[in-house]
Amino acid sequence: MLSKQVPLHEMSDSQKGHSVTYGTRYFTDSVPKYEMPDDSMPANVAYQIIHDELDLDGNPRLNLASFVTTWMEPEAEKLMMESLNKNYIDQDEYPQTTEIQNRCVNMLSRLFNSPNHETAVGTGTVGSSEAIHLAGLALKWNWRARQKAKGKPTDKPNIVMGENVQVCWEKFARYFEVEPRLVPLTESRFILGVDEALEMVDENTIAVVGILGSTYTGEFEPIKELNDKLTKLNEEKGWEVPIHVDGASGAFVAPFLYPDLEWDFRLPLVKSINASGHKYGLVHPGVGWVIWRDEAELPDDLVFHVNYLGGDQPTFNLNFSKGASQVIAQYYNFLRLGYGGYKRIMENMMDNCRFLVSELGKSDHFDFLSDDKGLPVVCFGLKGERGYTVFDISDRLRERGWIVPAYTMAPNAEHIAVLRIVVREGFSRDMAELLVEDIKRAVEYFDEAKPQVATSTPHEKKTKGVC
Ligand SMILES: *Cc1c(COP(=O)(O)O)cnc(C)c1O
Repeated sequence: MLSKQVPLHEMSDSQKGHSVTYGTRYFTDSVPKYEMPDDSMPANVAYQIIHDELDLDGNPRLNLASFVTTWMEPEAEKLMMESLNKNYIDQDEYPQTTEIQNRCVNMLSRLFNSPNHETAVGTGTVGSSEAIHLAGLALKWNWRARQKAKGKPTDKPNIVMGENVQVCWEKFARYFEVEPRLVPLTESRFILGVDEALEMVDENTIAVVGILGSTYTGEFEPIKELNDKLTKLNEEKGWEVPIHVDGASGAFVAPFLYPDLEWDFRLPLVKSINASGHKYGLVHPGVGWVIWRDEAELPDDLVFHVNYLGGDQPTFNLNFSKGASQVIAQYYNFLRLGYGGYKRIMENMMDNCRFLVSELGKSDHFDFLSDDKGLPVVCFGLKGERGYTVFDISDRLRERGWIVPAYTMAPNAEHIAVLRIVVREGFSRDMAELLVEDIKRAVEYFDEAKPQVATSTPHEKKTKGVC
């Protein structure tokens, strides 16, 4: 991109030394893209070529599609740069990094109200996906042990969850051969229905999954109700079906915004919880966490001990080597922000979320599907039949740089198309105001450009309590 050209007078001496300008052959001929070049090129030329190409990516700060962190304090980024060359797995070589991960696990197990932190265990992961694979394996192993002890078959495990689960659950089920039993959504319920879920549970159910913060609408699933009803069912049938909470987003929101909400280890059937450090844990990707209620929930034979890096290293991870900097950055946030700091940030995000809902609600174009008891997410669809769709609005916003995804809901509610704005830490009130203006302008543009074809649909949804 020529707009990125560094004017000569702004170049450092070393840049001038390489005399790289856009007039050199590097910038008039294209570089080979699918074959390694025959020879080297100067470092700053390679840098400039790649830097320029990446300008075609969306701007992460305007990416309102993602739950994943796009802004951290400079001090956090400095620590991350300083630890880029540390391998997380080298516990013997980097004992303080391992100690720091252990502190994070301890802080989280307390935050999630583990009844007995001395025996709580957990590990850092690449994200919630890896955390969920590990938690799922432990659930499968524990179920198999229970079945074996009763002399029952162990060949048909299943797991019960809503159709709205994130794709990593379907991956877990397929990769590790567990039958996924998906509870359908309905016209007006976009999260797990507890009674519907319990109808699918049997003695081969390794767990029921409750999502704290559905990816689709940001709503929390009713985990306490699930715990209470599943407890009864287990008692009646003589089963021990547990709950896993997918707190990818919500496990870093609920403790600060809704401390009285019981969703975590306060509920006896909740045996494990995953959280994405890189979502509302406020760390750059990728870091996640899985925490087990106590040691007994993590079967010994899933933990590997290696000694070739010196010492005995217990590990339970799918991969081996990875960067240590995300774990260090997570610890930085815990230390730097503390409970009060996280709480203030979550409250700010929720305020900005409410601001969006109230401003967008002033035009009668939208129905809101998100509620004000979940994640700081605004999920909204177009009211009635219009001559345009949420996909048109999304495209129009993209022209301004905003990335606001439009998508259809999960199966059985897939005819409902929505836009979703995920409010994150770097999204200020000023940006919220600009976005509202742009959304209004987009709607006006389409209202004028395309005639309205009708004003209502047969399935017009009631506007729920808004975010
Ligand atoms: C994002 C998300 C995941 C996957 O988490 P990653 O950290 O991206 O691997 C799983 N479940 C839910 C509910 C999510 O929102």
